[in-house]
Amino acid sequence: MTWQNWAGTASAAPARRHWPRSTEEIADAVTRAAQDGLTVRALGSGHSFTPAAVTSGAALDLSGWSGIVSADLASGLVTVRSGTTIRELNAALDVLGLAMANLGDIDAQTVSGAISTGTHGTGARLQGIAAQVAGLELVLADGSAVSCSATERPDLFNAARVSLGALGVLSTVTLQCVPAFALAADERPLPLEEVLGRFGELAAGNDHFEFYWFPYGKNALVKRNNRITRGDDPPVPPTARPTAKSAIVSGARGAQVPPPMPQWRRFLEYEVMENAAFGALCRTGRAIPAAIKPLNRLAAASLSKRSYSAPSHEVFVTSRRVKFVESEYAVPVESLLDVLTELRAGVARLADPVMFPVEVRIAAADDIWLSTAYGRDSAYVAIHQYTGMPYQEYFKLFESIAGSAGGRPHWGKMHMRDTVYLGGAYPRFADFLKVRDETDPSRVFANPYLQQVFGA
Ligand SMILES: Cc1cc2nc3c(=O)[nH]c(=O)nc-3n(C[C@H](O)[C@H](O)[C@H](O)COP(=O)(O)OP(=O)(O)OC[C@H]3O[C@@H](n4cnc5c(N)ncnc54)[C@H](O)[C@@H]3O)c2cc1C
Repeated sequence: MTWQNWAGTASAAPARRHWPRSTEEIADAVTRAAQDGLTVRALGSGHSFTPAAVTSGAALDLSGWSGIVSADLASGLVTVRSGTTIRELNAALDVLGLAMANLGDIDAQTVSGAISTGTHGTGARLQGIAAQVAGLELVLADGSAVSCSATERPDLFNAARVSLGALGVLSTVTLQCVPAFALAADERPLPLEEVLGRFGELAAGNDHFEFYWFPYGKNALVKRNNRITRGDDPPVPPTARPTAKSAIVSGARGAQVPPPMPQWRRFLEYEVMENAAFGALCRTGRAIPAAIKPLNRLAAASLSKRSYSAPSHEVFVTSRRVKFVESEYAVPVESLLDVLTELRAGVARLADPVMFPVEVRIAAADDIWLSTAYGRDSAYVAIHQYTGMPYQEYFKLFESIAGSAGGRPHWGKMHMRDTVYLGGAYPRFADFLKVRDETDPSRVFANPYLQQVFGA
């Protein structure tokens, strides 16, 4: 039975497929595979662009191992089964009056897949999803299930939060959640020159700031999401959990808070404009490459302004129905403008034009050994190309620019980096490899991608 990822950039034909529904069943599958000389990979939702989950050995499909195990409303600690998707997580947290402090821009990933690749959202004072992990339970290569946290086996914890499944199969993940909160969203086109000139101020002045730049257009789409209720408010009982409506009354910033967006407008803006209409533009551009630059300018010029408020996860998450390929690098935040200047100059010289916008986000430094934001405040630059269009020259150019700035590639997005480069990019890389040697000396959890990034 073959397996393929969302983007169609990786596929596999595992010798075996398991659907474990307990930690014991995960342990059993790992033990049997190891005895039979097979490698093991856990499958998430297949939303990595890299072949991170690929295996010719035993594939563990954890889609049946989902849901909340326990939740403590007072502390906000919530333990989930590893196959839980972010969509399922958001719905379950909402019922409890809790939320994730920060999220990426889709909710299809599993919690385990997201943390294993260092998935992040945006916010100068906020960190990626793995930094919201308080504890892990994982099944090691010898079939034993172990727990780790900041106080219990801290080295394993520092290594395992972002580890591409190289240390074992995550069985449960304990998340540090926050009281549910609403966001006031403001999305509007601004001239790119203005956005770049005001980048520091915009990043510092908003809880979640990001922008999209269409490579041949003059405007960027700027997204500013700000909390209406504060993240350190005490947990709210389920019956009184904040909605966008109640949050309007309790607006903490004293600023004018926009009303919720009606369903019909949400459908029009996000499904019709960002997916159906944009998809049609992309198909036209792919069929007639000479039309790409004018179409790209048209897309940039037709960006509209929208302001609304909604529960946080509804603002963070958008639907992405138009397929693309992507590469993303985290660069030191102070080098962002230089990286973008070089990228703008380089894009103008590409033989094949670029259909998709560049996305720029930001995150605070964290202490997770293989986190792309380890030890430094980071700006994320993500480049995309519409599926089926040439992208290699563009991605190579970007990789060289980001590499010169000391960039670290997203573990789940396309890149060509190897152990030598990555060893220089991550101060604790050798410590990670040491934990890998201790936990998986015979490389039960190996695959070609792990060999590329971590060595044999
Ligand atoms: C449309 C789209 C939008 C995206 N948006 C963002 C974004 O906003 N921010 C961002 O940072 N990234 C984003 N990504 C990238 C995505 O979040 C990551 O690639 C993420 O890893 C995908 O999760 P998954 O569940 O699909 O995992 P998979 O891609 O299936 O697996 C990823 C890795 O995790 C491992 N793994 C999965 N489950 C386990 C487990 N139980 N134990 C051990 N290892 C495990 C796999 O073996 C593999 O190595 C996006 C991707 C797409 C396609």
